Amino acid sequence: MRPTGKLHLGHWVGALQSWLLLQEQHECIFSIVDWHAYMGEYAQSHEISEHIIDMAADWLACGIDPDRSVLFVQSEVPEHLELYMILSCITPLGWLERNPTYKEQLREIKSRDLQTFGFLGYPVLQAADILLYKANVVPIGEDQLPHLELAREIARRFNSIYKTDIFPDCEPVLTKTPRLLGVDGRKMSKSYDNAINLADSPHEIQKKVSRMFTDPKRIKITDHGHPEACNVYSYYQVFAQQESKAVYDWCTGAKKGCTECKAFLAQSILMQLALLQEKRETLMKNKDRIRDILNMGRKKAQAMARQTLEEIKEIIF
Ligand code: SF4
Repeated sequence: MRPTGKLHLGHWVGALQSWLLLQEQHECIFSIVDWHAYMGEYAQSHEISEHIIDMAADWLACGIDPDRSVLFVQSEVPEHLELYMILSCITPLGWLERNPTYKEQLREIKSRDLQTFGFLGYPVLQAADILLYKANVVPIGEDQLPHLELAREIARRFNSIYKTDIFPDCEPVLTKTPRLLGVDGRKMSKSYDNAINLADSPHEIQKKVSRMFTDPKRIKITDHGHPEACNVYSYYQVFAQQESKAVYDWCTGAKKGCTECKAFLAQSILMQLALLQEKRETLMKNKDRIRDILNMGRKKAQAMARQTLEEIKEIIF
């Protein structure tokens, strides 16, 4: 399940790699979660629908195959909200209030009022997204682990209250690079305005990389750096692995400056994104095709969702 908004490098090197592997052997359910976006961005709600086609184009360009995966828009399958309501009734308030991601976002995001019932319940909707399709595994970034654990607890509670085994235990699937930080060293997120998006222009990418936080102890070019403490270096290990040894040497030996180091990294990222951006541009020329893919996904997802809800209602009533 992925949010609306632009896809960024963190998504690309994180959970998406697991999705691509999984879809080789299994049918994957892949929803563009516009209700989740609404929970945090209710005051700019008109922007959410504008991003849906963009988001679908991002995922398709990255390799999500609509013949193997079910790709659809969350709000077009209302069963998500129905299950969300049911699960809300059995989820203890303390579980949500203790959620570390919730606390972090309240602390970090000052531009929006997130002190709402809906935002507190965000993980319950995530649980509904997962449980509606009885998912066994969920590819996620490391930061989403507490949310998945909550979904598992909600599933167990439902199963225990109603003495059923309708919801399977679902496991997280993490990648080798479970977390890539944003340019300011915090979690990469659109909300923090620190993400490098897959659809960013070369100029935007160069600009964002140029303002990345580096080793705070390396002030002058003659200072010996500590790559292990530098966010730029962690990007090298993902986007330019072959060069990372040379970077380590020139940084620790004070042979080159951070400006040059960042410029080279920006070029490496651009080279890696070139093919994907080309595919994305082609897709965006035919938005009707993208809409058709989302409609096809909605039909498949809704058939599965209805079946699960019927079973749930039989259990409850
Ligand atoms: Fe980071 Fe590169 Fe500067 Fe070293 S030279 S501190 S790796 S940006």
